[in-house]
Amino acid sequence: MRILLAEDEPVSRHLLQVCLTGWGYEIVVAADGAEAWQQLERGDGPSIAIIDWMMPGMDGLEICRRVRAQGREPYVYVLLLTERHQQDDVVAGLKSGADDFMTKPFDEPELRARLRVGERIVQLQTELVAAREAMRSIAVVDALTGLPNRTAILQTLAKELNRTRRERAPLSVGLVDIDHFKQINDTYGHLAGDAVLRQTATRMQAPLRSYEAVGRWGGEEFLIILPGCDAQVAHLVTDRVRSAVAVEPLLIEGASVSITCSVGLATTCDGRIVQPLELVSAADLAPYRAKAHGRNRVEAAEVAHAG
Ligand SMILES: [Mg+2]
Repeated sequence: MRILLAEDEPVSRHLLQVCLTGWGYEIVVAADGAEAWQQLERGDGPSIAIIDWMMPGMDGLEICRRVRAQGREPYVYVLLLTERHQQDDVVAGLKSGADDFMTKPFDEPELRARLRVGERIVQLQTELVAAREAMRSIAVVDALTGLPNRTAILQTLAKELNRTRRERAPLSVGLVDIDHFKQINDTYGHLAGDAVLRQTATRMQAPLRSYEAVGRWGGEEFLIILPGCDAQVAHLVTDRVRSAVAVEPLLIEGASVSITCSVGLATTCDGRIVQPLELVSAADLAPYRAKAHGRNRVEAAEVAHAG
């Protein structure tokens, strides 16, 4: 773990440095307050800081305040060094955002124990952040395919609809439905069905550009968002997706299974107000018609606008 050591007195600084290095810490040294802040300001700065209260340039309290105002993650644990006669001011130090304090001259075992407390706090906080990020990911990612889930792709659609309406640009959505999926599940089992969904998800992404998005809508349905694409372009793009899905049979349980999909399209343009779900519903009408015409095709919905 990296520790920032900010101390303006050379002798005290040297003693601390010897101790900390001996305990196996990686040390970043600052000889005044400004240098200390320069180190902590960085996003990848040390997670533990030993800061002398009295320093030229910027004192320890000011550094504490800045560190807390910055609210960096991972957390910066601050141990403030004070003189004996400053004991009464400790409350002020803690109020400014210090986590702990120690009086000089420092006692080695005490410093070491206090640093262990700091390490524990930093470690716990890092785990907490990781857990929070994992939860966030669970909330927006479809576990089976790794694509954005329904909630996430709807949010993207809402955002893109707002943007394209402001710019009076067209926007199309394609609702992709894997043909005969129930039959695949019934014949080869649900694990095979899952494999088909994963493979289809992978194949669908290849023809899309970076600003186009695909998410799992539910079951065997996927939603593709095509910002800036009118009906004609959307037809071309989704037909590429359709053909990427059907490119070659999948090997499932030793059997070669042809996978195809049908795509329903809906487009909005001219800055009209349309709700995300209305647009998706419009696209949803199409696969049924596509299937009536035979599967493995792209079909544009007749009702492209709501409102
Ligand atoms: Mg000093």
